[in-house]
Amino acid sequence: MPQELPSNVKKHLGNIFILPVLLVIALTYLQVMKLYGKETHRLGVIVYLSTFHMSLLMLLWSFFKTMVTDPGTVPPLWGFYMGDSEQKRRRYCLMCHVFKPERCHHCSVCNRCVLNMDHHCPWVNNCIGFFNRKFFLLLLTYVIITSWLAVIGLYFQAAEDLSKLVQVHHVSSIHDLTNICFFSLLVALTVILTMFFKFHVGMVKRNITTIENMDKKSTTNYKIYDKGLTNNFIQIFGRNPWLWLFPLNGRSGMPHGDGILWHRESGPTLDDELQGTEEYIKSTQRLKIFSNSLENINASRDLISPKKDESLKRDTEQTLNSFRANPQSSYDSSQL
Ligand SMILES: [Zn+2]
Ligand SMILES: [Zn+2]
Repeated sequence: MPQELPSNVKKHLGNIFILPVLLVIALTYLQVMKLYGKETHRLGVIVYLSTFHMSLLMLLWSFFKTMVTDPGTVPPLWGFYMGDSEQKRRRYCLMCHVFKPERCHHCSVCNRCVLNMDHHCPWVNNCIGFFNRKFFLLLLTYVIITSWLAVIGLYFQAAEDLSKLVQVHHVSSIHDLTNICFFSLLVALTVILTMFFKFHVGMVKRNITTIENMDKKSTTNYKIYDKGLTNNFIQIFGRNPWLWLFPLNGRSGMPHGDGILWHRESGPTLDDELQGTEEYIKSTQRLKIFSNSLENINASRDLISPKKDESLKRDTEQTLNSFRANPQSSYDSSQL
């Protein structure tokens, strides 16, 4: 459940970065259609245009889903309960006033803590985290496919214009020069994006995020999250192979786990029918966070039904306020 934080100017200004992305997509589409839009009587062109349009549609769908999907928020009051069997030393966010689970980081642009934060992507003006990393990776995949299709489709016209330029040493029209310039920029952009895609695929294979990959000073050994290629892939893309190519989660395609507790020792157990469903995530969040103590279980019931026990609610609020006033009193907050 997203927390209510003051609106952030940087976040709103970030929407400006989306415009150049849409402009590049629109220009590429127009350039391809200018060359092939009228040649729909040839089988090769029909196959090419169909593939190009399908890839472009998936790109726009993935782009939209990456942009609007909540990457993952720390549940309210998470980590305030003593007796929790999970880590005793926790990082505390002074901006959001929450304890940060493993792999969670505060984004200064979004002004919130994000579960399993990968990075803040200005081109979609959203953080890439636990719940939208699949969409982001699909976006990169379809960007690469669409870009290479456009490069292949525009290559012949650009080569023809370039040979004219080399032979007669002057450009016959501004139109030809525009074609050559656009093609050169498209090739450069496609090569850069392909390298970026390769970089992210490498991190998926190791189950590591961009932040963790750049964190050379940390004493944490991030190899502990590496469960093998298949499990690492399923952790992000979910268990349902029918949904792997689509920017959809549904009930069966949710990322594996809850983004809060990471099973270092045993690794994911993928044979649980409920695993990955919304019910599973909600239940594991409640059960694991408030486990091992009768008081904690009572407190979780109080959170679900606040009117059941007003005195317990007051105690919880007092505990919260005392931690907010002095978060170092009982927990380690040195790693912010
Ligand atoms: Zn925060
Ligand atoms: Zn962000």
